[in-house]
Amino acid sequence: MSTVEHRGGKVVRKFTHGLGVCFCLAVFDPTLAQTDPSQLSVAQLADAVDEHRNSDPARAVSYANLALEKLELEPNPNLEVRVLNELCWALRLLGQPQDALQVGQRSLQLAIENNDKPGQGRALNNIGIVYWYMGDHETVLDYWLKALKVREEVGDPNGIAGSLNNIGLVYFDMGDNQMALQQFQRALEISTETGNQEYLVGHLDNLGEVRARMGDTDQAYVDHMMALGIAQRIGNRKGEAAIVINLGHLFAQTGDLALAEKYLRDGYDLATEIGVSSKRVEAASKLVSVLLESGRPTEALTIAIPTLDIADSLTEKAQQRDLYQLLSDIYVALGDNQRALDSYKQFSEINVEMLKQQRDDKLTLLQIGFETDANEKQIQLLQQAAAIQELDLARADSARRTMWLGIAFLVALLAVVAVGYRTKMRSNRMIRSQLAELQATRRELQRLAVTDPLTKLFNRRAMQTEIDRLAKETDQGGASFVLAIMDLDKFKAVNDEHGHEVGDHVLIVAAERIQSAVREQDIVARWGGEEFLILIPESDTMHASTIVEAVQQSLASKPMDIRGVTLSISATVGMAAYDHTSTSIRQVIRDADKALYHGKRQGGRCVIVAGLEQAMDHQSIN
Ligand code: GH3
Ligand code: MG
Ligand code: MG
Repeated sequence: MSTVEHRGGKVVRKFTHGLGVCFCLAVFDPTLAQTDPSQLSVAQLADAVDEHRNSDPARAVSYANLALEKLELEPNPNLEVRVLNELCWALRLLGQPQDALQVGQRSLQLAIENNDKPGQGRALNNIGIVYWYMGDHETVLDYWLKALKVREEVGDPNGIAGSLNNIGLVYFDMGDNQMALQQFQRALEISTETGNQEYLVGHLDNLGEVRARMGDTDQAYVDHMMALGIAQRIGNRKGEAAIVINLGHLFAQTGDLALAEKYLRDGYDLATEIGVSSKRVEAASKLVSVLLESGRPTEALTIAIPTLDIADSLTEKAQQRDLYQLLSDIYVALGDNQRALDSYKQFSEINVEMLKQQRDDKLTLLQIGFETDANEKQIQLLQQAAAIQELDLARADSARRTMWLGIAFLVALLAVVAVGYRTKMRSNRMIRSQLAELQATRRELQRLAVTDPLTKLFNRRAMQTEIDRLAKETDQGGASFVLAIMDLDKFKAVNDEHGHEVGDHVLIVAAERIQSAVREQDIVARWGGEEFLILIPESDTMHASTIVEAVQQSLASKPMDIRGVTLSISATVGMAAYDHTSTSIRQVIRDADKALYHGKRQGGRCVIVAGLEQAMDHQSIN
């Protein structure tokens, strides 16, 4: 769980599990399988779609199409909504998110027209899932909160518990542990009342995961053990495998490597028995990293190699990518630098592929947004997201170039070795320098991943990681901190009057001035185009105002001289504190944004504290 990527992989795992909680398959009569599908009634076809949507989504789609044809002749809105909802599900599994969204929207509309509340709940839920896999968490949350509302209106306790569970997973993925915890707890209360054991397994397992991440490993252990007990009692083998593997993660986290190994091996065996490849790969990968941590790289290798074959067959590429990274670590530990590099190359290639996919998904979202509503602001936001993805991609490309250079260099070195210098001493030196080169390449890759290429400040993602880290400390009783969003005033005019290149230079100089005006412990990042975020640790807004005003002064005090153009630049700042009363980071950023907006409306060039918008007006340095 050391990297963001690993965490990403874990969430998909939990998510699959969590969703499993929300849907019960209809009972499907196996004799129907032999019947000619065109002879089946619409209701039977709908059952067939239900039955196959997970195991054979392509077949589910053909049943659904047949059902929809029949429904044209004999309309039945309730059944049509049901078929469309399952079709949406199957299309997503087939990797056709755009079609899935269209079908989901059609279903939603039909369900609303016919006041079919359960159908609405399901449609909202399924649309949310499509967005989840496209990585658009804000939209997911929007849909799932609506699904929850509809289910509350109907008073469907299972639906409510399922929605709460899924909403908890979104918060979990966004890093908002507190909110995630609340949702899982509410879901747990409801399912305890209804006695829905299947759901209880999922809620308890998820509770354990969020508590583990909050550092409460004792309670996490209790939650997981309770979940395990119920799963075993009701014979939920898939749940059992997931929980046993989670226990393995937990013991790895607490440093009890022997127990971690035991649970992971058990989890691997269970997953193999029930034939769930993604769980096998997850257990094996974690086992590999535990063995590596225990100083047993040779054993780690014997597990990693066959696992790669299994991972290769999965559509979700994150696990495969992470395995290559582990493999590279194993080879480094074994002193085989050539193979370490080869594995790292594979890791990097899959990474670039995944980034491209993410970007394509974002662009798809952009198109859908454009087609379904003409909300200009939304489109603008999505475009920005796509532009940021583009930057990420460019960075990954340049990272790849750096790596190729490293590889070329190493190949040259190896050639030199082959030609002549064969004495032991020399080859030892060579290995050391290869290793140094490999490590330098890695450091460079890591640096690129957190840096904004123009200003050389931290990028948004790196800042997000820092904020999450500090928030966790605050939640655990640490000091409060302040986030200050600084937006350059009338920056568009700089571009318009002097050109984009001058604009870029202004950003570079502004970044330098901000960086040199803050204290050593403060962190500055480029948050957006001409927006900077300053993180001021161990501070409240009163104290932070002094620092921020100093930054503002240093930015505005003397004009910039850029390519013979003299420019005066100023900025507006909105800031808010994260303390033990804060509900989430997202809320604090939103508050700071609101304060910034207030400052802009007053003509800019001022510092506004969230919540004190009126009172702080006098603090303007105008
Ligand atoms: P306000 O005082 O309200 O903030 O006005 P503004 O003009 O600064 O605000 P607005 O958000 O309308 O414009 C921001 C501009 O920043 C738009 C965009 O062209 C420019 N910008 C964003 N990123 C970059 C960049 O990387 N380089 C350059 N040169 N310009 C950028
Ligand atoms: Mg702006
Ligand atoms: Mg601006």
